[in-house]
Amino acid sequence: DKTKKRKVAIVGGGITGLAAAYKLQKQMNHNQVPVEYQLFEASNRFGGKIKTMNRNGFVIEAGPDSYLSRKKSMTRLAEQVGLSDQLVNNETGQAFILKGKSLEPIPTGAVMGIPTQFSPFVRTNLLSPLGKVRVLADYFLPKTTAEDEDVSAGYFFRKRLGDEAVDYLIEPLLSGIYAGDINKLSLKATFPQFQQLEESHRSLIKGTINNLKKAQINQAVQPQKKKGQFLTFREGLESFITAIVEQLPKENLHLEKAIEKITKVDSGYELSFANGEVQYFDDVILTTPPHATGELLAAYSEFQYLRKMELSTTATIAIAYREGDVQNPFDGTGFVVSKNSDVTITACTWTDKKWPHTTPEGYTLLRCYVGRAGDSAIVEKTDEEILQTVLDDLDLVMDISAEPLFFVVTRWREAMPQYLVGHPYRIAKLKEDLENKYSGLYIVGAAIDGVGLPDCIDQGEAAVDSILAKVAK
Ligand code: FAD
Repeated sequence: DKTKKRKVAIVGGGITGLAAAYKLQKQMNHNQVPVEYQLFEASNRFGGKIKTMNRNGFVIEAGPDSYLSRKKSMTRLAEQVGLSDQLVNNETGQAFILKGKSLEPIPTGAVMGIPTQFSPFVRTNLLSPLGKVRVLADYFLPKTTAEDEDVSAGYFFRKRLGDEAVDYLIEPLLSGIYAGDINKLSLKATFPQFQQLEESHRSLIKGTINNLKKAQINQAVQPQKKKGQFLTFREGLESFITAIVEQLPKENLHLEKAIEKITKVDSGYELSFANGEVQYFDDVILTTPPHATGELLAAYSEFQYLRKMELSTTATIAIAYREGDVQNPFDGTGFVVSKNSDVTITACTWTDKKWPHTTPEGYTLLRCYVGRAGDSAIVEKTDEEILQTVLDDLDLVMDISAEPLFFVVTRWREAMPQYLVGHPYRIAKLKEDLENKYSGLYIVGAAIDGVGLPDCIDQGEAAVDSILAKVAK
């Protein structure tokens, strides 16, 4: 029946699900594709992990605060929804690493921990003389991995640059992105660019220097002011969610509509809702967090990996002060913490410095992280206990003489998927199973092919492309 429309369900109203809905809606508007869709979100709001609080003139991000600007899909979607004039780059500035009790600048020229300039590297207090010599061995060492081999990021960097560089430079910088244990995270799934660098240049230092030179040649062709490499929206990331939602027909979006079970039936899927209702769809785009996805598909053995996937638990705390109440002797944007330090916080951003638009004139905003893979007991303490722990830690670094104006703690329990060694192979198998046995079912989002916001957008859109390709046939 040619007049019959294909029925698509999108499950989850975070960035992945909304990007899918937006793409589908745009295609329907422009090309009259014979498709109809419904988006179902369990909670009472859209955005999922994206959550902004606007308080006393401050813009406070409870979860993600920005995205990597070189990943273009988010900037493109921002243009599509008319928000490009709201995009802001971070201010660049010195970042630090807490080693023991001392805050040390990240050596100038280090790119994600890989040194590219000799004299700042030689002068850094982060590594001992022996540790530095070991880093330079990267120039001479043979390749450590085969192209198709997956190892832990920790193993890879330890082999190439030595333990000290990993403990005091690489690990603090990289582990924060996944709130994970670098010794367990899959190199291929988390930092494939370094494996590619080894493949092409053998030495990470040589490869990184080479890439920088290429970038500088491009800069020389198109000279521009040095901008930060992250972007966010002036009124917070949630304003982006609001802008997307506003462009979608209300009748297609359903809040407080949790799916409980998905059953494969002839040529499609039945979605069972919490209220007992059952609806049929030809295609289902699942963007739910991995344990939820695993539960929805518990009847089918292929989705075990998602059900059991490791997730890390963290909390963020934003703390606001009058400017004069915080004496910060360091000029920069914030610091991360090496594991061997005797503190609980894992990172602290001097948010008013890195993102001036977040903070009214005359005030200071700090944002810290606590909790990490395998060590998240702090997250279950009370808000006041978390505040006290964080302030005790900050005392090592800066002088805070007054009570905060206010503070906000946000707990993220089992929120960050851990791409452990082998993840790429498991996902490849999952995709193969979906293609061969579960036609019309798409599993996308943070647990699958990248946790970054632009990665999530790419995945949501790709699922829609697959459905549109089927409709076109
Ligand atoms: P989610 O946002 O988790 O959305 C899934 C949705 O599904 C939720 O709204 C949920 O309520 C809903 N749902 C669950 N179960 C059901 C059900 N049964 N039925 C219907 N709906 C259901 N990324 C960056 O790029 N930059 C950052 O700075 C950054 N910082 C981060 C900081 C923190 C603390 C965290 C936790 C993540 C951060 N990330 C960052 C990662 C990024 O925020 C996430 O990967 C991304 O937002 C995930 O989007 P998603 O749509 O895939 O999933």
